Amino acid sequence: SSERLDGLGTTIFAEMGAAAARTGSVNLGQGFPDTDGPRAVVERVELALRTGHNQYAPGRGVPELRSAIAAHQRRHHGVELDPETQVVATTGATEAIAAAVLGLVDPGDEVLVLEPYYDSYAAMIQMAGGIRRPVTLRAPHFRLPVEELRAAVTPRTTAILLNTPHNPTGSVLTADEVGEIARLAREHDLVVISDEVYEHLTFDDHVHVPIATLPGMAERTVTISSAGKTFSFTGWKVGWATGPADLVDAVMGAKQFMTYTSGSAFQPAVAWALDHCDDEVAALRTDLQARRDQLCAGLDRLGFDVMVPEGTYFATTDVRPLGFTDGLEFCRALPDRVGVVAIPHQVFHDDVEAGRPLVRWAFCKRESVIDEALERLSGLA
Ligand code: PMP
Ligand code: GLN
Repeated sequence: SSERLDGLGTTIFAEMGAAAARTGSVNLGQGFPDTDGPRAVVERVELALRTGHNQYAPGRGVPELRSAIAAHQRRHHGVELDPETQVVATTGATEAIAAAVLGLVDPGDEVLVLEPYYDSYAAMIQMAGGIRRPVTLRAPHFRLPVEELRAAVTPRTTAILLNTPHNPTGSVLTADEVGEIARLAREHDLVVISDEVYEHLTFDDHVHVPIATLPGMAERTVTISSAGKTFSFTGWKVGWATGPADLVDAVMGAKQFMTYTSGSAFQPAVAWALDHCDDEVAALRTDLQARRDQLCAGLDRLGFDVMVPEGTYFATTDVRPLGFTDGLEFCRALPDRVGVVAIPHQVFHDDVEAGRPLVRWAFCKRESVIDEALERLSGLA
């Protein structure tokens, strides 16, 4: 394989997904809900299939989806966008990330990322020939280390790849933290690629602050989100990128030669969901908070050191109180030992030590499934 794939190996989600299938494990690894999103939205896909949405969609997405994305950004975040020039629909947030990095990062450019980082960030920065500069969010609170972030900037830094609410730690950057990142971006004239796929999945009184809403940031930020997380349709792979026309042009410039257009029957359905399903999204958030509390309480009872997330659908534990030292070894042994799958943090780190004992558990699962996982995990003792 090409040098641009050197060291990337196989994504942990494939490894752990295969382990789950082989062992019949309860899969709290890859983050996908085990309950589909609203039936009415599925019916919109069926309708689209029956009414001729079966050929290529426009490259930037069907007009109704682009309008619905713009309306969503206005209604929820107060961001004004021209659906013609400032919105592009993508094949999941994954393609938006890939196209943004390929369209905006030159070979040798340094890109700041918060680690642990979602694994596609490292892969895409490497494929673009860029150099990642990780800034570590440390357990147990995973706060932004502002001084370390500032110290990581060099004359070659051109971009920040941000993610809040943050996978895998579950932290939600505060308004102050987002403000510090924005200040740095303005001072050094950096582009921000902001992955906000968990924008609606925040708990208690934690509030998601889109960095594009801060002064001087709309013109330098590409904001990314996805119907997978917001409406529980991860398999549809409908995502989007929004921002100023020049940056969105760069995203489209790369996307046009990867997929050109994305799934035409799903786009009108997601447009409909964006326009009609605010209540369902609020209900999902409430339900996930209950699942979070169920899983965290259960893991705590089993003796794990639990870091309760502020957002996303992932909880983190330190496995050392149970006598383990290495989260990757723990996760590789877990399916055969007790029939549960989880994801180790360390594979999302350059600073492997910082993530070594940490393990991520997805709680976007039915109550009975989480109970079953906890029951199985009690066999560890
Ligand atoms: N970014 C983050 C932080 C994620 O957790 C995920 C996983 N859904 C993605 C991007 C990819 O989203 P999609 O499935 O829409 O490609
Ligand atoms: N975002 C999901 C997770 O973090 C799915 C990952 C994937 O499919 N690559 O688990």
